[in-house]
Amino acid sequence: MIDRRTLLVSSASLATVGLLGSRSGIAATVGAGATSADGFYDLIIVGAGTAGLPAAIFASQRGGRVLLLDSAPVIGGTLHFSTGQMSAAGTRLQRELGIKDSADAHFDDVMRISEGSANPEIVRLAVDQAASTVDWLMDIGLKPLPEHPVMGHGHEYYSERRYYWGKDGGRSILAVLTEQFEAEQKNGRIDLLLESPVTALLRSDAGAIEGVRASYDGAERVYRGRQVLLASGGYSSNPALWRELDGYQQHIDAAYPFSQGQGLRLAQSIGGYLRGRSMYLTSFGAIPADESSPSAIKTGFETWPDRRAPWEIYVNVRGERFVREDEPSVHRREHSLLPQPDQRYWIVFDEAMLTRAPSGIKDWSHADIRKAAVKQTVFYTAATLAELAQRTGIDAQGLEYTVRRYNDGVASGQDLWGRQHLPAPIATGPFYAIRMQGFAITSNVGIAVDARLRVIDVRGNPIPGLHAVGEALGHSQTSGKAYVGGMSVTPALSLGRLLGQTLPLKASART
Ligand SMILES: Cc1cc2nc3c(=O)[nH]c(=O)nc-3n(C[C@H](O)[C@H](O)[C@H](O)COP(=O)(O)OP(=O)(O)OC[C@H]3O[C@@H](n4cnc5c(N)ncnc54)[C@H](O)[C@@H]3O)c2cc1C
Repeated sequence: MIDRRTLLVSSASLATVGLLGSRSGIAATVGAGATSADGFYDLIIVGAGTAGLPAAIFASQRGGRVLLLDSAPVIGGTLHFSTGQMSAAGTRLQRELGIKDSADAHFDDVMRISEGSANPEIVRLAVDQAASTVDWLMDIGLKPLPEHPVMGHGHEYYSERRYYWGKDGGRSILAVLTEQFEAEQKNGRIDLLLESPVTALLRSDAGAIEGVRASYDGAERVYRGRQVLLASGGYSSNPALWRELDGYQQHIDAAYPFSQGQGLRLAQSIGGYLRGRSMYLTSFGAIPADESSPSAIKTGFETWPDRRAPWEIYVNVRGERFVREDEPSVHRREHSLLPQPDQRYWIVFDEAMLTRAPSGIKDWSHADIRKAAVKQTVFYTAATLAELAQRTGIDAQGLEYTVRRYNDGVASGQDLWGRQHLPAPIATGPFYAIRMQGFAITSNVGIAVDARLRVIDVRGNPIPGLHAVGEALGHSQTSGKAYVGGMSVTPALSLGRLLGQTLPLKASART
């Protein structure tokens, strides 16, 4: 029998996960009568995040009886952390602004930017649903920034203006979803259980999924459902899974702490399989808080040449440059960092550059950089290049050779890497280095599904009653081995919504 309880998320629980601006008053309820007469839910959703919330809202609007479980003490998932940048083509906003765009053009751009490495079946589904999702979000109160949509920001540019986000990033989306969710909760068709990780999927003798097991307060409970949706996100906060599934170390810790990859294990436990193992990609990096691994992010350095032409050079631990620093394509810059040891590099410059160049760190003055370098950790300074190399761990001969060759290129106007912006040599001490760390915050490997988002076994047969959506599918499915703008948040929202709108909810139904 289902346990009756109502719990209000405690402020202590919120503090433990450091959740920002979340709504602490959301009641987690079970036993309000959401199950049907036979004690079954129409739909059990594992994860009340980006994909899970719209799935619950739409299934409830269709009269479905829904159980939503989440390991965290709050709803919202990665929306608490995400920049919330969305891409959608053919939206009402675009039409109002006279922008002619289509899902086909969006699809072509995703495949172009990802160099054909995204999954065309899932991308197609996602881009086809994106415009109606953004229209819906705006109908329920989301306000994109005034100049939006834009062609790009931080990632490779789209060919059209189809990129949007609200002033609070992911939390702008969460705010409007929460209102809808609470309204549906009041209808009594949604039960919400927080701090209740799903630990197992239950299967009938015939092989169909018929519920889940979840733990709460040390006790395990069983919940029966005709359909189960894995909307449990990725494994971005699980360094062991990064090593196991991608073969890379997670050097930066910036993702949602509950992104532990449990949904992947649940799918595997009943015959599902994982795909996307060779799709790891690093961002072009940030300045870490310290030299531990994983470390938090301290701040960024402006490495986008269209925003700030680079004065400095970038070198790896061998003291080698590995990309022209003014390479216009962020995709090519990211791919150039991937083969570098630990996806790490140092931004190297001299005193004359520090004085003359615009600061590369937002809200930092030149004096702030000099001050940080005194600590000789993450930020370094030394009278000579050899000494700088010794302090940072960069190979000294490599660094001195590279700087010599770079300076030759500045003098001749012919840089070895083809760099165009060559404002000054690196010649006047003291010299400086800032450590940069590449990292990924979206996990690439995920649960294999078919074109209807049904979890499949290795033979391609769907496991009856089980669907998956969102980052649980692997970011690589919708973005490939690339960062295609908005192609995680929008697909999670759109496809969660699509399943909420379309999954069969009747007693006899099973897909
Ligand atoms: C810092 C950051 C910035 C980002 N910015 C962007 C961006 O601008 N644009 C973009 O497209 N993408 C971005 N992403 C990625 C994007 O936000 C995520 O891929 C997307 O939000 C994931 O949605 P989801 O529903 O799959 O997972 P989530 O939103 O993480 O939801 C999963 C939920 O499942 C719960 N859960 C996990 N395991 C269990 C279990 N066993 N039982 C019960 N519940 C469980 C979790 O607690 C969580 O609430 C960003 C990611 C990060 C970390």
